Amino acid sequence: MTDVARGEELTKRERLTIDRQEMPTRDPGERSGTFAEVNLGFTERLAMLEAQRCLACKRATCVEGCPVMVDIPTFVRQIEDGDFAAAAETLFRDNTLPAVTGRVCPQEHQCEAECVLGRKGAPVAIGHLERFIADWARGHVHEPPLTIEPTGRRIAVIGAGPGGLTAAGELARHGHDVTIYEALHTPGGVLTYGIPEFRLPNDIVQHEVGRLQALGVHIECNVVIGRTYTLDELRKGFDAVFVSVGAGLPVFLGIPGEGLKGVYSANEYLTRVNLMQAYAFPEADTPVLQGEHVVVIGGGNVAVDAVRTARRLGAQRASIVYRRSRPEMPARVEEIHHAEQEGVTFEFQVSPLAIEGNADRWVTGLRCIDTKLGEPDSSGRRAPIPIEGSERVIPCDTVVVAVGTRANPLLTSSSPDLALTNRGYLVADERGMTNLPGVFAGGDIVRGSATVILAMADGKRIAGTIDEYVRATSVEVTPR
Ligand code: FAD
Ligand code: SF4
Repeated sequence: MTDVARGEELTKRERLTIDRQEMPTRDPGERSGTFAEVNLGFTERLAMLEAQRCLACKRATCVEGCPVMVDIPTFVRQIEDGDFAAAAETLFRDNTLPAVTGRVCPQEHQCEAECVLGRKGAPVAIGHLERFIADWARGHVHEPPLTIEPTGRRIAVIGAGPGGLTAAGELARHGHDVTIYEALHTPGGVLTYGIPEFRLPNDIVQHEVGRLQALGVHIECNVVIGRTYTLDELRKGFDAVFVSVGAGLPVFLGIPGEGLKGVYSANEYLTRVNLMQAYAFPEADTPVLQGEHVVVIGGGNVAVDAVRTARRLGAQRASIVYRRSRPEMPARVEEIHHAEQEGVTFEFQVSPLAIEGNADRWVTGLRCIDTKLGEPDSSGRRAPIPIEGSERVIPCDTVVVAVGTRANPLLTSSSPDLALTNRGYLVADERGMTNLPGVFAGGDIVRGSATVILAMADGKRIAGTIDEYVRATSVEVTPR
């Protein structure tokens, strides 16, 4: 940027004197009683100031840290220059869902982890800038209709999560006729049913979905592949199939008491609240238990989302029970910080032994044991070792189990020829193709539970190989 008063480019020294700009947030007291979004977004002034911190390095290591290789230096420079329309064009070229990734990417481990400013101070707030531009574009940019020649190739995508949506968008831009089949009544996958409104408002997800529909992508909801249609039926009707069904089957701990009333898997708890709007019951059809003391077991994003949801549903005490210590928590640092501000309590180095209940089989408490940390285990994190004689009961009326998910066998059990790992995930080669010709797969159903941007990176990369695959097959071109 030029210093307007001086008419000159800012020097490196001047750039280094600018502090990282803070994301404005809703007041913690106010927000723990509402599902309204916590982060309020940069103003134009904050965004341009933050963009001035970028040193425009010759080798942009931040780009290497981004799984979809967003052209970060260019769009940041365009923000600095106040050319938001150009920044939006740059961003959308590489990233199908920037309003989503700008909100939920673990930037501290990706693009921002590679920013040279982070070596001595705070990295450029790339995620916040990405969100700013995506939000600005929502009000200002109207994509022109696609002018690409239709190829006549038909491609089915199974699952409307970030992996499937990204692949569908890319394939439509190549001129293919794309149909997404989604089991639930609303597209978005975890973005819609898992990640709560206060982190990712659903209307933002649906706006992004709408942009894909405007490109010509068809979405059929309430269609469960493996039940409504089989994979074989889709293979007969389409030139290629992309499977991106996620890994949403909840895992429990296998401890006594998990069948008591008041015990939820985090998936069920969050789906009831996010997708079915259980907070509005009885106006909404679906209820959810609004416990006074809710304990959530786990330390990932899902656990932190569940415990913050419990606070918003009115829990006087909402606690995380995690068997390791705070530095080992896989949840995003920002979310842990927000949870603390909202009055969530954390019980670190505590391992659950059993859920206790009364004569009516309602939950009354969680029996636990304290742990000390030993040597790193197979996950690379220090293993929790129970401390003998430290057993105690944490009183509670609701327990939410958020210790992970695994592959749902619904689709794969109806397609016995599909090759699976011993944990039930799909096996795909370097092109993203499974052992069945023309059937590709990506996202959590191949990787195991991962991240939004990794599912999107799979969708983008594999859309490229699907395009090559269908063009190489001898299908007659019939314009739409
Ligand atoms: P999904 O998002 O799971 O989408 C799969 C879709 O396929 C779903 O809509 C499902 O209904 C549909 N489907 C399943 N089976 C069938 C079938 N047989 N027929 C038709 N449709 C089917 N990641 C981050 O990067 N940042 C975060 O902050 C973050 N927070 C998270 C919070 C929660 C509560 C959860 C659960 C996950 C979070 N994640 C986060 C992880 C991230 O959401 C996932 O890694 C990502 O959504 C995986 O994308 P996907 O497209 O592979 O699958
Ligand atoms: Fe960073 Fe995620 Fe945006 Fe890539 S998509 S630049 S990793 S915030």
